[in-house]
This record gives sequence, C-alpha cells and structure tokens, in this order.
Amino acid sequence: MGSIAFHHVFKRYKGESRPAVNDFHLSIEEGEFLVLVGPSGCGKSTTLRMLAGLEEISSGELYIDGKYVNYVSPKDRDIAMVFQNYALYPNLTVFENIALGLKLRKTAKYEIELRVNRVAKILEISHLLERKPSQLSGGQKQRVALGRAIAREPQVFLMDEPLSNLDAKLRAQTRAEIIKLQSDLKRTMVYVTHDQVEAMTMGTRIVVMKDGIIQQVAPPRQLYSEPANLFVAGFIGSPQMNFIDGTMLREEGRLYFSNKRMKLLLPDTFNAHFGDRLRSGQNVVLGVRPENAFLKAELSGDGNGEEDRDFVPATVQMMEATGADSYVYALIGETRIIARTDPEIIYRPGDKLLVGFNMNKVHFFDENTGISLAAGGDEG
Ligand code: ADP
Repeated sequence: MGSIAFHHVFKRYKGESRPAVNDFHLSIEEGEFLVLVGPSGCGKSTTLRMLAGLEEISSGELYIDGKYVNYVSPKDRDIAMVFQNYALYPNLTVFENIALGLKLRKTAKYEIELRVNRVAKILEISHLLERKPSQLSGGQKQRVALGRAIAREPQVFLMDEPLSNLDAKLRAQTRAEIIKLQSDLKRTMVYVTHDQVEAMTMGTRIVVMKDGIIQQVAPPRQLYSEPANLFVAGFIGSPQMNFIDGTMLREEGRLYFSNKRMKLLLPDTFNAHFGDRLRSGQNVVLGVRPENAFLKAELSGDGNGEEDRDFVPATVQMMEATGADSYVYALIGETRIIARTDPEIIYRPGDKLLVGFNMNKVHFFDENTGISLAAGGDEG
C-alpha cells in the first residue's frame, strides 16, 4: 500500500504560458522516503499538491496503489499532509487538534483516545495535550502538526517544507525525528524542501527539479558522485562544485583538459571509460568539488618537474572557516576556485599559491547542453 505513479503529469496554471510542472514522470515505491528538492518556484509544491488532490492536474495521469486518482477528492486519497505553517486550530487543545481528523472520519471515541495518546508518546508531547497552540513553541507546534498526520495512519505522508519555521538546532532534531518516524511507520513519504542538505540527509531517493522539469532522480550518494548535469552538480554540495571552462585535447593517445592557464592530464581511466564521449577539440566544463582541490604554497622544484606539473597559480581572495573545515576562495585568472584546506594554515587575501586537483575525481560537462559527459566520482 502507498505506491504512487505519475504518468507524464503537467500542470499549467490559468493564464500562465509555461507549465509549472512539465512532464513529471515517476514511480514511487511503497514505503519509500522520496524528497523533492530544487530552488524556489521549480514546481515542488505544485507536484505535492496535485498528489494530495489540492490542485487539478492539467494533463497526464496519477495513480495511487494502481488506482487512477486524477479526480478523487483529497479526503478519499488516504493521504495526510503536513505544511510549513502547521495549520493548527487555535481554539482547540493539542489533543483536539490531533483528534480532529479522526473525529471527522467518525472514529470511535476510545479508538481516538488510544491513537492520540500513542502518537503523543511517540512525539513526546503527552504533557502538552491540554494546551492551546498559542502556549506552544514552534518546535512543539510542528510536532502537533506531525501528530495530527500520524494519528490518521494514512498510507502516504506528504510534507511541504515542514521544518522551515524552526531554528537550526530544532530543525536538525526534528529532521532526525521524521527520519525515525518514517522508518518505524514504514509508510510512503514525499517530502518537499529547497534545502539540499535536508534532502541529502533525509531522502532514500531524491528528485531534483528546475523550472518544472525533473533534472535527476537518484539516491543521495549517486546524486553527489554522478550528477547528471551542471545544474545538479552546482545545486548539490556545499560549498558548490568548482566549474572551469576549457577544451579537451588528445595528444599521443593521452587526454588533457586545457585552457589559457592550465593543461591537466587525465587519468587513463577517463580514456578507457569515456574516451568516445570526450572528443578532442570539444569545449567542456570541468567540475571539481572543493574537497578535491588542493593548495600548495610554492613550487616543489623549478616548476617543470612531475610534482608541479598539475598545479596552477592562483591568488587568494578570502578564507572561510566553518568549524571543522576551512575553505579558501582563490582566483585562477578570472575563475574562482574553492578548495577545502587545513584549518591550521592561515591564508590571506592576495597570497599567491598553487592549486591542484584530484584528477581521478573530476567531472566533465558539455559546454552547450550542460549534460554530464564523464565523472570520476566523488565520495558522498
Ligand atoms: P516551489 O514549491 O518549487 O517553490 P511552486 O510549485 O510553488 O514551486 O510553483 C511553481 C511555479 O508555479 C512558480 O513559477 C509559481 O509562481 C507558479 N505558481 C504556483 N502557484 C500558482 C498559482 N496558484 N497560480 C499561478 N501560478 C502559480
């Protein structure tokens, strides 16, 4: 129970020329934790609302448990939705708020008591049942909203940015609670967020959207190590992947990435796996994550030796310390590069240094389409 299938679903709002959701085609398995992620306005909420039955589908078909549900009303879909703004009734107590959905479904009184108390225990809000929403903190309100959804015991949970009103600490804590809840209840969860960190930590599968169009569907690790295009590569990971424009070169059977400032030899594995996709003379974008960029204060030899061959001169713009990690922002010509670095070493704006890349871990994208041509793979 709780499987979902979108068949080429489109949503075009009245008076809009562009569809808000464009050919959404995806199957979600029973019990799966699926996260929809993407920048604001990319169509996540619209997709979720169509699934809930709150928004009409313009074309395409939606199935829940194999049943065609395009015209089934929200209350008949066995779905519970949790919103960003909690949507609690201010005049009802916490108990009554959680019980409301059950009451409307004419659940027996003893059954309501049983379920509300059980849910309150799971969410650790038993001591708050007699309070009104105005007497609760943001985190507590969100738990009541979750409780209301859980008490109904639906086949599918839908969550639309449920944590965005919480402060960072509570957000992390509630995030962990939702993950645990989902794995305990084993119900299908479709979760919307614009926060890639939230997506990466919560979802067993992630759908990245942009302009109403699915960019990639993959488990978190794969999204990180094999982004399908430049957009996904730039969106997933923080700080962002570095991008450098250049051209592929083939010389004496070896493959190089080159531009005005660098000529980097690619490991033979690229040639073996992606040789036919990386054509000599082709303009590409090289992608490399900050953890795969290295800094060196000075040349090891005279600059012509093996050990210095793949290092490129750069100028420090700034250093950013985020606690355990530090990042140096540097310029190679006009291209900004971010490199993870040892927090013990202090770099100052204007410092000259050398940047090298772990060439086993670089990505190449087509300059025009942005589509991934080759990926050495990053560890998640
Ligand atoms: P997200 O949840 O990713 O922020 P939405 O699904 O809310 O994106 O919106 C997708 C697109 O549809 C946006 O361009 C938004 O402006 C538009 N949109 C959303 N709701 C409506 C509406 N009721 N009428 C017209 N356009 C809408």
